[in-house]
Amino acid sequence: MQNCLFFRDCLGGPMILRKRSKVFLALVVFIMTISFSSCKKPGDAVTNSSIDSANQQWMPIGMAASDDEVFFVRYPEFRLYRLKKGTFLAETYCQDPTCLHVTDKCAALGACNNLEYYNGTLYAADYDYDMLMSKDGRFTRVENIKGGFTHSGGKLYVCELKSNATLVYSEKMEMERVITEEVLGVWRYQIGHYLYGCNGATTNRIDLNEKDAKMETLFEGLGFTDGTYLYQIDFEKNDLYRRDLDGGNPEKLVDGAIAAFNFDKEYFYFRYIVNQDLDGEKCGEVYRMKKDGSGSPELIAVLPQSIQSVYTAPGEEWIYVRTQEGHWQDAPESMYAVRIDGSEVREITYSND
Ligand SMILES: [Zn+2]
Repeated sequence: MQNCLFFRDCLGGPMILRKRSKVFLALVVFIMTISFSSCKKPGDAVTNSSIDSANQQWMPIGMAASDDEVFFVRYPEFRLYRLKKGTFLAETYCQDPTCLHVTDKCAALGACNNLEYYNGTLYAADYDYDMLMSKDGRFTRVENIKGGFTHSGGKLYVCELKSNATLVYSEKMEMERVITEEVLGVWRYQIGHYLYGCNGATTNRIDLNEKDAKMETLFEGLGFTDGTYLYQIDFEKNDLYRRDLDGGNPEKLVDGAIAAFNFDKEYFYFRYIVNQDLDGEKCGEVYRMKKDGSGSPELIAVLPQSIQSVYTAPGEEWIYVRTQEGHWQDAPESMYAVRIDGSEVREITYSND
């Protein structure tokens, strides 16, 4: 699909992935949903990136949330939906049932990638990874910004499509400079004067204060941060570790292969991988565990299909769980809202399919 282009260009995706066995690959791509939303600080976007196990690709599509709505892309149509928080009936962002969502007449303008809510505006990318921003319920194309993007620390960071370079833009979307021409990663998160990213093979950072700074690789495996710690899912066993922000002092938090990972302020959410089974009966079980490592993982919900991704939003009483029958492209998908303590599970339905 066209939207895989970003990963080839920006991550060297297939190149990275080809090094690994197929089973391993399936596990790696299945493993995690990354949230930088749950640790939102001023100047950061509310976004939820994820990995699309069906396509075995890193997919920074996910979900974004405003104060009163969540936005997500539904597969396999690659269509943008909106859902009022506390309700379970989603509607298409573009209300025209005959629209193909690719022309300038479309309110959603092909918005199907890289969802992000920042400073009152919903951002997305189209199939070609042109940046889009919403204005009065309609998306418009942003001139000259093309690539994977993240708002963090009051800046906009863009992984440029052709060069793989990471660029920094001001709030006004004026380009300031090329930070690095190495592949820092899809997910970029600024903490102090460091910019962090994970490129699918390693988790890295770069010192923004240094001109021509070299990228520093902190560890192998999938990494992400809540602004206080780095978290790592290792490639060997898919265990979860917590590390200091310099990558040191690893401490194992969850023993056992996990997938569809995310977190909020207090808890991790995930499912287990049992016998490398991507589709067995345990694959519908949602667990949560305290982020401080105390207590044991707690089963909070059992869903009827295999869990692909878990999304969180700041201060939300609900998490959103994407499930799929099987793991292959075009397999039917569903979305569930699960109360964070597991006391209620609601399937999301759609008003205007
Ligand atoms: Zn449309």
